[in-house]
Amino acid sequence: MPNLTIYNQIKNELHGKNVTLVVVSKNQPTSSILTLYQSNQRIFGENKVQDLCEKYNKLPKDIEWHFIGHLQSNKIKAIAPFISLIHSVDSKELCLKINTEAAKNNRVINCLLQVYIATEQTKFGLTPAQIINFLSLGFAQKLSNIRICGLMGMASNTNSFEQINSEFKALKQLFDTCKLQFFSEDNYFDTLSMGMSADYKIALACGTSMVRIGSILF
Ligand SMILES: *Cc1c(COP(=O)(O)O)cnc(C)c1O
Repeated sequence: MPNLTIYNQIKNELHGKNVTLVVVSKNQPTSSILTLYQSNQRIFGENKVQDLCEKYNKLPKDIEWHFIGHLQSNKIKAIAPFISLIHSVDSKELCLKINTEAAKNNRVINCLLQVYIATEQTKFGLTPAQIINFLSLGFAQKLSNIRICGLMGMASNTNSFEQINSEFKALKQLFDTCKLQFFSEDNYFDTLSMGMSADYKIALACGTSMVRIGSILF
């Protein structure tokens, strides 16, 4: 069951800073999601396509669903009719497939490019240099059924404040560079998704615009 005291505390912390809260509801039952829905939470994040589709079918249709996990291209079809934001786009192939499925549904799907900033070898994403290169090619910007709205990144899984802080600062700097170089006229490029339960306070200090919080709420 969600802890509404913590939920309200986090909402208050984010409110003044204009930061969006994605409640990460992976591994949580629909009853827990409904409890937060009744507290007016509308944005939820899931990392498995099958779980996401089951929850989408059972829950109110004004929920905005975000996909935050590694996305296999053969599963895009299932979420294309309703997904609000995909945080984890990291290849040209994925952009093309999302664009195709979005077009079949007469939709424009909002996407974030996932940046690899952590030191672990297990995290997905493009390095900062690859992000710049990818956007320079202009390929994703030309697809008419996807919209690149910003970047997402995860810090290393460490207790070191210094390390997380420098990774988040680097990510914010990359976001600002991309905005200036490639999207200066595009108001929709406005989302920097960084910060989870353990490190969202650091992310707030570093200029995040969207945090993805799960475990501390449940
Ligand atoms: C699980 C997950 C989160 C939430 O992590 P918590 O530590 O539970 O807050 C955020 N982002 C991604 C990509 C995740 O997989």
